[in-house]
Amino acid sequence: MSADKKATSRTEISRPPVIAVMGHIDHGKSTLLDYIRKTRIVETEAGGITQHLSAYEVTHKTKDGKEQKITFLDTPGHEAFSEMRSRGAKVADIAILVVSAEDGVKQQTKEALASIKEANIPFIVAINKIDKPEANVERTKQSLAENDIFVEGYGGDIPYVPISAKQGTGVDELMDMVLLVAEMEDLRGDPSKNAEGIVIESHLDPKKGISATLVIKDGTLKQGMYVVAEKSISPVRIFEDFTGKAISSATFSSPVRVTGWDTLPPVGARFTSFTSKKEAEAEAETYTEKAAQALIAKSSPDRTDASDDEEILTLPLIIKTDVAGMIDAIKKEIAKIHHDRVRISIVHAGAGNITEGDIKLAAGNKNALVIGFGVKIDGRARDMAERTGIEIHLFDIIYKLTEWLAEEVQKRAPKTLVDEITGKAKILKTFSKMKNKQVVGGKVLEGEICSGARVKIIRRDNEIGQGEVAGLQRQKVDTKAVSEEDEFGAMIESIVEIAPGDIVEAFVTVER
Ligand code: GDP
Repeated sequence: MSADKKATSRTEISRPPVIAVMGHIDHGKSTLLDYIRKTRIVETEAGGITQHLSAYEVTHKTKDGKEQKITFLDTPGHEAFSEMRSRGAKVADIAILVVSAEDGVKQQTKEALASIKEANIPFIVAINKIDKPEANVERTKQSLAENDIFVEGYGGDIPYVPISAKQGTGVDELMDMVLLVAEMEDLRGDPSKNAEGIVIESHLDPKKGISATLVIKDGTLKQGMYVVAEKSISPVRIFEDFTGKAISSATFSSPVRVTGWDTLPPVGARFTSFTSKKEAEAEAETYTEKAAQALIAKSSPDRTDASDDEEILTLPLIIKTDVAGMIDAIKKEIAKIHHDRVRISIVHAGAGNITEGDIKLAAGNKNALVIGFGVKIDGRARDMAERTGIEIHLFDIIYKLTEWLAEEVQKRAPKTLVDEITGKAKILKTFSKMKNKQVVGGKVLEGEICSGARVKIIRRDNEIGQGEVAGLQRQKVDTKAVSEEDEFGAMIESIVEIAPGDIVEAFVTVER
């Protein structure tokens, strides 16, 4: 073992950091990423950029003249970051938290910080927009401290750099800081290994086929190899760097694009690479098995939950979309659907048509529904769904999907009985009580009190008992109902003794 370790460490060398830029909307994430892209990518390299990938690589010359590479994830926003992390993979090594010197910490700054903490990576605060007249770096530091972000010289050791992403002020210092933090992290990789890393983007081009942007985190990827991400495989044949230039090999921490996948690799999935197709296929095969096992393990506790508490229904969903980027948007909308007695569980979400595998997955999960967004159903999947009675629903507008799902949730929710209050009255006077019957005088506060209604008797906000309105009078004349503002006399049948000041609530029990 120790010999192995030594052997590995000998071939390991330091690798460039991968950076995620995060922060509140409008604080300048895109402006910073644009500025760095425009100023740091050498013209000749940039010449070939036709379509920009969601990551780029720059070379930065440090103060002591060393040239070092840095990879930037060009997908600002913590949602994109969370999506990439949804499979537990660590894409970014360091985060830059952009905070406007005008506004200080805002809601999404806090959310970004939570994501960074969850990912357990170091971060640098970029205090942006210092060129603006309202900018106040000191106040921003204070706002950061109020939110437990203690920067250097302000009660903590989190590095910060004041910048103007628009004018470029401080961006050099920010890059120096990125490299300094990277050095402290001691990021390493072994170029002699087969490449591995993370899928950060994937999409289907009707002409070219399926392509994916990968960030290599270790090893080297070469023309002629095969890449595997979960159950998707691609030969490394149409192989480009982030500028769209054909390449024959790439190593860490470069973003590359590989086209020719058999199915859409999921965003955030880890990829590995092999020299032979056979090995690649074997790896994809084991993923399918691993996934099936993980699902069984995951779905069984749910089943016990449900049997422990029959009031809660678990509604498993399998979601397929035309582009990987839609998954997050759909998940976000679905998360807004709440029901006390329904737990929506997304067992699988991926891009591509609905396949037999999706139906199998649904068949293994009680009550599961398959939802397609902008996709088709494969022939075999359709047959199998018919045979197994699995429901498939197709949509191409998000709100239609969520509207339908909200209704479905309502329809499927286990029914319970609830008491609905129809009127409230305050008791002003009480008269003699004979056995279980008591005559009282009161005033309706809201709604309506009807003769024959069931009532709850409330004293100091606590229900002390229940009863029934056995007789009702308004101005000494019998009546069927009294409404808001009416004073009334009533005979209430109840075992509890009603006192002046009590509240009487009329209610009906309904199924919901
Ligand atoms: P994002 O939502 O965080 O990506 O923010 P943007 O990069 O889109 O920036 C929001 C607005 O702030 C845009 O109008 C930018 O031009 C402006 N902005 C960003 N950085 C700076 C800066 O350093 N100085 C000034 N004056 N404006 C900036």
